[in-house]
Amino acid sequence: MTEAAISITGLCKTYAGGKRALDGVNLTVPRGQIFGLLGPNGAGKSTLINILAGLVNKTEGSASIWGFDIDAHPRNAKASIGIVNQEILFDPFFTPIETLEIQAGLYGVPKAQRRSMELLRAVHLEDKAHAYARTLSGGMKRRLMVAKAMVHAPPVLVLDEPTAGVDIQLRQQLWDYVRTLNQRGVTVVLTTHYLEEAEQLCDRIAIINHGRVVADEPTRDLVGRAQEKVVAVTVDRDLTAAPTAPCFEKIVLKGERVLEITYSKDRVNAGEVLAAVTAGGLGIVDVTTREADLEDVFLSLTRGTP
Ligand code: ADP
Ligand code: MG
Repeated sequence: MTEAAISITGLCKTYAGGKRALDGVNLTVPRGQIFGLLGPNGAGKSTLINILAGLVNKTEGSASIWGFDIDAHPRNAKASIGIVNQEILFDPFFTPIETLEIQAGLYGVPKAQRRSMELLRAVHLEDKAHAYARTLSGGMKRRLMVAKAMVHAPPVLVLDEPTAGVDIQLRQQLWDYVRTLNQRGVTVVLTTHYLEEAEQLCDRIAIINHGRVVADEPTRDLVGRAQEKVVAVTVDRDLTAAPTAPCFEKIVLKGERVLEITYSKDRVNAGEVLAAVTAGGLGIVDVTTREADLEDVFLSLTRGTP
C-alpha cells in the first residue's frame, strides 16, 4: 500500500472556552503533491496545521504523517514534517546561520549532514547569514522560517500563509523554491488566501469552512466546477437602470453603456443571456467573458453558511 503523506480522520478541536474550530475533518494528502488548504479567516486551517505540528492538542480523531500516527509515534511523525507557522517566531539575537544550526541541533542532525549555508542560499539569504535576525525584513524572516523548517530534510513541508507580508518578487522566489523542493520529492502543503496562487501552484485543493472540509479535489476539477460565468455587455445607448430577466443571476450597471451579467452556465447559455438583453430593445456592441476561476468556486462553496 502506498501511504499518504498526511492522513487525517475525524479530527475535531474544541478550544477551551467552547470554540469548535475543527468539526470532523477527514483529509488525505497524497505523497509527492503540492496540496492547497484554502478557507476564509477563522476556518480552522491553522488549528489543523498546529495539531500536526504538535502545538495544539486535538479533541478527537487521529492524524498520521508519513505513516506515523501523531499519538503512537510522535517522534517519527515530528521528524517527517517541517512546519512554517503563520506567526513569525524566533530569537532576534541569533543570526540566520546560528538559527539554522540550533534548529539542526534540536533535531539531532549530525554536523556532517548539516546544510545550513545551502539552505540560506536556496531562500536567497546567504548575504544575511551573519546579520541579527531582528534586522531582517518581514519577507526575509519568512524565508528564514522556511529554511528552518527544512533543516532536518523532512519529506513533508507545511507552510501556513507563507506569503503574508512577502512582496510579489520575493513571493515568486519562495514559490520557485517550493516547486524545486517538490520536484526533489518533498510533499508540500500550504494554506493561502491568494486563490490565484493556489490555482497555479497546487495539484490538489481542499477547501475548509467552519471547521469542515467542503471540497477536496484535483485543482483542475475544482476550477471546472465553477458554474457562474460573468459577461460584460456593451450596448448601443446610455442606460439609467439595468434591465432584468429571469436568466440573470445578477446584473450590474458598470458604466453608462456597460452591463455586467452573472449567469449560471448549468441553467442557461450565453446566447440566451444575450437574447434577453436584446429582447428589451437594446443593441449589443461588444461582449467580453471571463472564465470562472477558483475564486468563483471558493465563493460559491463558502457562501451562505452561518
Ligand atoms: P484560520 O487559520 O483558518 O484562520 P484558525 O485555526 O486560526 O483559523 O481559527 C479557527 C477558529 O478557532 C477561529 O474561530 C479562532 O478564533 C479560533 N481559535 C484559534 N485559536 C484559538 C485559541 N487558542 N483559543 C480559542 N479559540 C481559538
Ligand atoms: Mg490561520
